[in-house]
Amino acid sequence: MKVTAAEITISAVKPEQYPAGMLPEFALAGRSNVGKSSFINKMINRKNLARTSSKPGKTQTLNFYLINEAFYFVDVPGYGFAKVSKQERQAWGKMMETYFTTREQLKAVILVIDLRHPPTKDDVMMYEFLKYHQLPTIVVATKADKVPKGKWPKHQKVVRETLKMAKEDEVILFSAETGQGKEEAWSALLRRM
Ligand code: GDP
Repeated sequence: MKVTAAEITISAVKPEQYPAGMLPEFALAGRSNVGKSSFINKMINRKNLARTSSKPGKTQTLNFYLINEAFYFVDVPGYGFAKVSKQERQAWGKMMETYFTTREQLKAVILVIDLRHPPTKDDVMMYEFLKYHQLPTIVVATKADKVPKGKWPKHQKVVRETLKMAKEDEVILFSAETGQGKEEAWSALLRRM
């Protein structure tokens, strides 16, 4: 896919603020700092459209990025910050749950994990949550540039086994540094539009 236009459309906290219309949406889920923003930026060839390295304490919003006026990437605030208060965590959980369970336009969730390490407890919980709600899930194992190529199959296997992944869900090895996996990720998205 050749991206000719990309813009942030809206930061939303509640359904009334989600964009109108029926364009397909792909949400990015994953731990803070895992590489969600870098994934979006690499996919659309922008240096810095999606915010990178968002800090805890910042407003937690769903950010909708309109791509080629054809679909949206939805950047979801990351999980796994120990410092966040219980109240904040609950508000975050409620916002995520509302979006993930009610949004008709949501075609698939891209769960971004770190290929270097086995998925964390939070990653496992997130994957289980997505499966419980029967959401099609694409697992993107990023930072592949940090793992020697010969070890990719082994790491990929650990990802599948730790998440207890359904056969129909795919794992894409990705790197925002090298562009590894970009074409594969695009074809996975296009198939679901
Ligand atoms: P987010 O919080 O999930 O949006 O994570 P960011 O996209 O802000 O990435 C967090 C950090 O990881 C940044 O310093 C990125 O430069 C780095 N990073 C993200 N993706 C990759 C990757 O594929 N390879 C390497 N080596 N670093 C990455």
